[in-house]
Amino acid sequence: MGDDVITCSLDLEHSETISALLKPPSPQQEYFSELVKARQCRGLEVKTDGEYGKGVYANSDFSEGKLVLKDQILVGAQHSSNKVDCLVCSYCFRFIGSIELQIGRKLYLQNLGLSASMKCESSSSYEENDSLMTGNDNGGSCSSSEPKEKVPLHEEVIESLMNGGIVLPYAKQFSLPSSVQCSGGCGEALYCSKFCAEADWESFHSILCTGERSKSSCREALLKFIEHANDTNDIFILAAKAISFTILRYKKLKESHLNNRNSSVELKNGTESLTLTLLLEVWKPMSMGYKKRWWECVALPKDVDCCHEASFRSQLKELAFTSLQLLKKAIFDKECAPLFSLEIYGHIIGMFELNNLDLVVESPVENYFLYIDDLPYSEKEEAEKTTRPFLDAVGDEYSVCCEGSAFFPLQACMNHSCVPNAKAFKRDEDRDGQATIIALRPISKGDEVTISYIKEDVSFEERKALLADYGFKCICPKCLLEQP
Ligand SMILES: [Zn+2]
Ligand SMILES: [Zn+2]
Ligand SMILES: [Zn+2]
Repeated sequence: MGDDVITCSLDLEHSETISALLKPPSPQQEYFSELVKARQCRGLEVKTDGEYGKGVYANSDFSEGKLVLKDQILVGAQHSSNKVDCLVCSYCFRFIGSIELQIGRKLYLQNLGLSASMKCESSSSYEENDSLMTGNDNGGSCSSSEPKEKVPLHEEVIESLMNGGIVLPYAKQFSLPSSVQCSGGCGEALYCSKFCAEADWESFHSILCTGERSKSSCREALLKFIEHANDTNDIFILAAKAISFTILRYKKLKESHLNNRNSSVELKNGTESLTLTLLLEVWKPMSMGYKKRWWECVALPKDVDCCHEASFRSQLKELAFTSLQLLKKAIFDKECAPLFSLEIYGHIIGMFELNNLDLVVESPVENYFLYIDDLPYSEKEEAEKTTRPFLDAVGDEYSVCCEGSAFFPLQACMNHSCVPNAKAFKRDEDRDGQATIIALRPISKGDEVTISYIKEDVSFEERKALLADYGFKCICPKCLLEQP
């Protein structure tokens, strides 16, 4: 029913371009070979004609515990609700500032009542994932049944922790890069380095910055779009980044094409317009991700009755449409108009929904308190005279890690198995948002590398239900054995 209400004029106007953008690109092999070459993963190969479509295969032997792949983020974002707890680089997601600033800022924002209220108000499906991942079960309930009573600190103490007045013992050993401000003047985006600040500006942020030097067409609308996403589902911010990324690549490619006659862009027999040829080229990284319309591929939540499925899905579609209208006001670009169609927007969001790609960076604050706890008795006793009040004030949230979602182009090609031979695992040296995949057991040359999209040590029926979110039926050896 809802389908009749929403009509996106761009869907009709650009229907041909849209179907060209959504058609799976035909020669994928070359793209993935280039990608593998660019990563630290010489022993891998992406096969695009495997048993289950795309898959990642070992090109050499990996022994147990060995790094199989380090995959860079194509588009990623920290969850809005996580920003209270963790101050990280907006580009690489490394923690920044200092241990003192991380703790002080967390306490300061908690005092403003941000932490608790944000967790409770949000109703996105992402919040459930959050609480699953951190293993804290009170994500859904708003009651004040805190597992551990927090002991508040005076404002002055918190402030002096934030501005360097208080130095915590041993914190120097956990030093973090100092923060670099966004050059657009938004004051929102912070970075671990000038490199990250510039890379973010070039790739995404110049269009999505809310500061004075923003290239968006309307900063007010942009603020509204961000607010709407924070109130409903922050997956929209990820989608906006994907669109900005494509627009910025388009502008760069067009400029180099016009300036350079030996451009790599070839016009195919004159039938495609230059705009379409360029658009297809810059869209390529996005085109490789498996995608469906978001409102059609989201698994029906347990608390929604089957007979309300149609209205649930049309509500999602309406939500996406509202978000898109706000985004259009903020950053619309005429040459890239098809990207602002509901059809493309829905598919981009669906791509993030269908590819289970969590962004996780371990917290140095957690490591710091664990380190203090592990000190020899007398040193620990001495250190805790200073650190204990802060730990008591932060409570159980001392261990919250940086969490978000991201699209990792190579990891996204890895198929699922309930008996995987590899898994995502952060080693001590992995301090940013890149995905690291290590071998769980020996992997031989020619084997497919598989990871588990779900918690795999549960019953067949539970696994089947969890995998429904990804829209497929598992036929791994374990499932074949256990299916009734
Ligand atoms: Zn960085
Ligand atoms: Zn900015
Ligand atoms: Zn299975």
